[in-house]
Amino acid sequence: MIDAHLHLQDCVGELSSQELLTQLHDLGVTALMVNGTSPEDWNEISELASSSATIVPSFGIHPWKVENVPANWEEQLSFLLNKFPEAGVGEIGLDKWISGYDLPLQRDFFTRQLSVARNLRRHVTIHCLQAWGSLYDCLRESSFSLPFLLHSYSGPGEMLKDWVDLGAFFSISPYFFRKDKSRKLEVFKAIPEHRLLLETDAPDMAFGEGEARYHGKGMKNHPANIELLYERYAEWSGKSAGEVVKLMERNFCQFRDTTSTKLPARE
Ligand SMILES: [Zn+2]
Repeated sequence: MIDAHLHLQDCVGELSSQELLTQLHDLGVTALMVNGTSPEDWNEISELASSSATIVPSFGIHPWKVENVPANWEEQLSFLLNKFPEAGVGEIGLDKWISGYDLPLQRDFFTRQLSVARNLRRHVTIHCLQAWGSLYDCLRESSFSLPFLLHSYSGPGEMLKDWVDLGAFFSISPYFFRKDKSRKLEVFKAIPEHRLLLETDAPDMAFGEGEARYHGKGMKNHPANIELLYERYAEWSGKSAGEVVKLMERNFCQFRDTTSTKLPARE
């Protein structure tokens, strides 16, 4: 199984990161895309990535963290991306849901990080809430043509074709399997399945009350719930467990391939 988006550095508590990784390996997890949110957690992610080949690190500044960023952040980001040739840029993006947002500042950080990713040919993981039009404009204006993941996609169904044409992948988190989120989950039916990924976003975006399989103290969503997510997705999509494993492996491989500008063909 592959977890396309989580924050393992924030899941450490009663279990150490090594204990968590052992638990995940035992469940059959083969890759974890661990995302940073500001220079404050980049070192932790760098250490995690050095300790385990399962981790695909991503370094980025989240739209909630664009204030009080050290002036040399671009140098730090490039340094880490050069240190980890497999690393992506994320979690970056735009957010008009959070109160007191500064969209011009968010856009500035977002487009600067996109150009770092473009120059070093890295895939990008995007967080977006209620700013879909601006996000589209930024990607178009930056002529960004590498794979990007719209993680926990909650945008409009009408924009799907635009995103797909730009090179988007989309990930489903446990949150979408909550009973009151079925309309959000419906949108994923219209996404070409070769652009889908699954993610826990642990420790956030949990299953509904009482539905999770694994629990951790002070953690809303335990990363081991990737197991249940695979099962719920298989059930929902009508695929066998084996088909889901294969599909996600192939899609993740395509997502990480930044060597060609050719986007994976429609099925
Ligand atoms: Zn996240």
